[in-house]
Amino acid sequence: MIDAIIRGGTLVFAEGRRQADIRIDDGRISEIAPELPGGAAEIDARGLHVFPGLIDVHLHFNEPGRADWEGAETGSHALAAGGGTTFFDMPLNSTPCTVTGVDVDRKRAALEASSVADFGLWGGLIPGSVGDMAEMAARGVVGFKAFMCDSGLPEFPRADENTLWEGMKEAARLGLPIAVHAEDSEMIQDLLAANRGSGAEHFLATRPVKAEVKAIAQAIDIAGKTGAKLHIVHISSGAGVAIVAEAKARGIDVTVETCPHYLFFCAEDLERIGVAAKCAPPLRDKTEQGRLWVEVLDERVDMIASDHSPSHPSLKKDGDFRTSWGGIAGVQSTLAVLLERGFDGRRLRFERIAALIAGNPAARFNIPHKGALAVGNDADLALLDPAPSYTLKAKQLLQRHKLSPYVGSSFKGIVVRTIRRGETIFADGKIVAETRGKFVRPTDV
Ligand code: ZN
Repeated sequence: MIDAIIRGGTLVFAEGRRQADIRIDDGRISEIAPELPGGAAEIDARGLHVFPGLIDVHLHFNEPGRADWEGAETGSHALAAGGGTTFFDMPLNSTPCTVTGVDVDRKRAALEASSVADFGLWGGLIPGSVGDMAEMAARGVVGFKAFMCDSGLPEFPRADENTLWEGMKEAARLGLPIAVHAEDSEMIQDLLAANRGSGAEHFLATRPVKAEVKAIAQAIDIAGKTGAKLHIVHISSGAGVAIVAEAKARGIDVTVETCPHYLFFCAEDLERIGVAAKCAPPLRDKTEQGRLWVEVLDERVDMIASDHSPSHPSLKKDGDFRTSWGGIAGVQSTLAVLLERGFDGRRLRFERIAALIAGNPAARFNIPHKGALAVGNDADLALLDPAPSYTLKAKQLLQRHKLSPYVGSSFKGIVVRTIRRGETIFADGKIVAETRGKFVRPTDV
């Protein structure tokens, strides 16, 4: 198959960094050692850092059915340009949403035909889908996603309390996690009724930190009583992470992700950027963002995912914060943000970044042979040149629509090559993949 030696890079492991070569046989890492003998194609990685390929556990490529919003071809190109080799697609906003076994089959077939990255699939937990969870599990979903508030799509209604209970009971039986979008529905509905304006400040007022904290507490309570594994997606506040940490200390099986945009932008930026930075939960003020950074730096956040959620540009064009589509398109920028930013003089170590973007996602979702530079694992690698500085231009983005709040921001460090199962899929700014990505599924638990 594809044999190669990655020569002389600084390899990033969870436990440290060291310079060594990587030998790849048949798409897998077969040896890691300094000065391996030649005889295969060589890739010069001297001066580069070699990260495990990024695993983005939360994004929306909207295929099948809404590929005019993104699609797995363009979406996976952008992921690869940011060092990504695997993603988990959310059960919405494809159409139909992924809520039955047949939907899983259909989405799997669509993504096998279009994605250059490997991928897993989330099933959906909505009222009425509990009876379909076993079938989705048999087809290999990584877990089930539920909304505790309105999702923005009528065909993916929120999970009411009974659905959460029954869904978590079934998920516990199946051994798979439930992922929740945690914002309290009732609180948001009341605040929407009281804040009718279309500006950023009205939008922010409808989705306070306390709505997030209340929903997280409820999800933790039900997970604790049903024994379900719980994953809180896109936490936006330090206060939210803190109650998860407290639940973990009590023995609840809960993990938490946050997104690069909460670490890079704050509510004060929203007016300037406009609806390109509208997302839910919303960007938080500078103080709350500082609290979130402390939680990330103190290693109480398990993983960072993009929650790439683009739409057709027409759904954002009037600039109205009340009616515009909510979702930030940032799939290409996760690693860039984590390299660029820090808080209060502190930075994430490269080893910790590798854990947040690859090691912890693979471990939490039981994805075999991925997540770390190790003999026997898939040769999924992101080769990073840490030196160059650049200002992101729209034309550098490989996603379908070039609307991203990161355009115009400056970064240091650039992915020069992405390798998926031994095959270079991205190099020097271009997609060069010749084969498609594979469906990945959790090992039996
Ligand atoms: Zn999402």
